[in-house]
Amino acid sequence: MRTSGRTHAQACPERTCVGCRRRAAKGDLLRIAVVGGECVPDPRGTLPGRGAYLHPTQACLDPAVRRRAFPRAFRGPGPLGTDAVRAFLERRAAQARP
Ligand SMILES: [Zn+2]
Repeated sequence: MRTSGRTHAQACPERTCVGCRRRAAKGDLLRIAVVGGECVPDPRGTLPGRGAYLHPTQACLDPAVRRRAFPRAFRGPGPLGTDAVRAFLERRAAQARP
């Protein structure tokens, strides 16, 4: 399924979360890139190459890992490590706590 490609004028680009598969504003999602066979968080969106988008929460990371959404998103041959993403989310959650 393919949506219209003529969306470049959109003020608020949307991406699909690889965890819950819901669409969200790009700014609400964490970009994930792959460096050396590992998924790494790319909050600034500066890493080159393909990106996957995820709500920055464990609730979306877990189903993404279980469904092997990352290898699929990056068209990799095998499993990709997600420890760096998990650590990033844990740190983020700890900071958000009052
Ligand atoms: Zn999500």
